Amino acid sequence: MPKTKKMLLTVELVPKTCWWSSVRTSVKPVEWDKIRRISYAAAGNKCEICGGTGKKQGYKHDLECHEIWEYDDKIHVQKLIGLISLCPKCHLVKHIGRAMAMGIEGDCYKHLASVNKWTREQIDTHIADSFVLYKQRSMHSWTLDISILSKEPYGIKLKTTKNRIFEVKKYKKKRKVPKKKRPIKK
Ligand SMILES: [Zn+2]
Repeated sequence: MPKTKKMLLTVELVPKTCWWSSVRTSVKPVEWDKIRRISYAAAGNKCEICGGTGKKQGYKHDLECHEIWEYDDKIHVQKLIGLISLCPKCHLVKHIGRAMAMGIEGDCYKHLASVNKWTREQIDTHIADSFVLYKQRSMHSWTLDISILSKEPYGIKLKTTKNRIFEVKKYKKKRKVPKKKRPIKK
């Protein structure tokens, strides 16, 4: 068998303005289960980047399904172009912002160094570049395109009329209105 080029592990920060739109929030839980099972089977039940599994890394599960997005920076469409099965460590690197929020980014640095054979400098540069792009993209609203899921092998019925658009303004406006107190029934 010809040797395929090893895939690099990269950070893929989802713009802030897309946080509420994802495959998981657009399909039923049973459909998401179907999607990820197809993905895991196609990957031979191991991480498509490092070949590892979560249980060997001390997790209770082996794989997580990661959504691969393509961002059209001209017309601001966030399009799903595929799904990849990743071990929890590689998945955490993809969303390193979450790891940073949890204070466990050190794990990501270690994993990036071991999978990509990168130096600390290369890792720092890559992460800094990812955040620059993230900040630029977070200034726009995005239209979600997950039409790939209606095709084989997924065959999910999608509501095509519901193009989910999330506006920056709406996102920034944090709800600080207290919940209305219900009158106590006597
Ligand atoms: Zn992995």
